[in-house]
Amino acid sequence: MIRYKITLTPRSPFLIGGHQLRDNHYETLEYVPAPNLQAALARRILEAHGGYDVEREAREGQKRYYIDSERIGVEGCEAKWIPWFQHFSQLRFTDCSPFGVEHFAASTFGCKLDRKHPQADFLSAFYRTRHQRSKGTRMACTCGERLERKSGWKWPEGKRLFKRTVTRVALDERRRVSADGQLFSLQIGEPFCDEQRTPLQFVGDLLVPEEIAQQFDFSVQDAGLRIGKHITVGLGRMCIQVEKVDSEPFPSQRIANWQATVGDTSVPLLLNGMLPVELPAFDESDEDDIETYCQAYAEWLKNKAGAPADLRVTFAYTQQTMRRNFQNGAMARQEQITRYLLPGSILVVDAEVQQGLQSWLEQIHAQGLHLSPHSSLVTLAPSFVLKEERHDHE
Ligand SMILES: [Zn+2]
Repeated sequence: MIRYKITLTPRSPFLIGGHQLRDNHYETLEYVPAPNLQAALARRILEAHGGYDVEREAREGQKRYYIDSERIGVEGCEAKWIPWFQHFSQLRFTDCSPFGVEHFAASTFGCKLDRKHPQADFLSAFYRTRHQRSKGTRMACTCGERLERKSGWKWPEGKRLFKRTVTRVALDERRRVSADGQLFSLQIGEPFCDEQRTPLQFVGDLLVPEEIAQQFDFSVQDAGLRIGKHITVGLGRMCIQVEKVDSEPFPSQRIANWQATVGDTSVPLLLNGMLPVELPAFDESDEDDIETYCQAYAEWLKNKAGAPADLRVTFAYTQQTMRRNFQNGAMARQEQITRYLLPGSILVVDAEVQQGLQSWLEQIHAQGLHLSPHSSLVTLAPSFVLKEERHDHE
């Protein structure tokens, strides 16, 4: 895969993801999930496509903004989008995070009292005591205060997401008048990231198969992208810049450091996106269960993400959430509950045949973790091995 860097610069307030917290309240995400970006690009490309009639497609029961180059000809496609249009289903996207930063690992903790006190990562300590977790790892800040888990993205110093709440009246779709009593509130993000109103940016990767990248250039600059669903009319205008970049070198030294610290041949993987998992719920804090859930994660990585057959998951330290979705079927609405591993979750993997593990890791490093035939991929962080560890808390 050839790597391009995607930079999204919001030009208006935005509501990403439209995550519904309560019945009538929505709050933006702090990053652009890969599927949302993919959908926004498909829409952008088709809206600029002279040979495409949105209304007709909708009438004929097709998905409104779905690029199908068998159904829709290339004639009428805006020149700069032609390579995208023709190869859209083979493009892979990563989530775009604020300024391209990583997510805090679930094992990273900071002082409860003072944010400026140094953070500590306990992954290696948790890992080494994984079979005696009830004994616990002593956790305290250098000042003696208790620690709390760090969460969210590692925003650059002095930058953060500014949010604002707006209230809207719902429209009756049919009569086009405001529906009685249908107020809803949106917590939207501002397009700047500090008091000086420095523009906010979301940065992620586009991955293009080599044989396609050799023939076409996917570099693009466009001001017409809009990210968000129907409730976000007037929000989410973004510039997109796509430029070719070199891949980072494989982090061999950091893997070697981890292995020297824990005394085996394992490698920790840090998830930087939401990973849907089709596994039953189990309690990771129960040390008797460790074999069960590690085996389940390993099977899942083999089936879904091309991990080598002898892959073992030796430890997992995750955060999870459940989401309830409804699928509209022919007869009835079907409820589906999906479990997700949250960004910052860690899976520690190992294998008998080191060669096979190594080439799988190199593949993840270069192109992320493919979990679906379409581009809604979830990646492990480009720098997926923990950078720093402190060991003075044991
Ligand atoms: Zn402290």
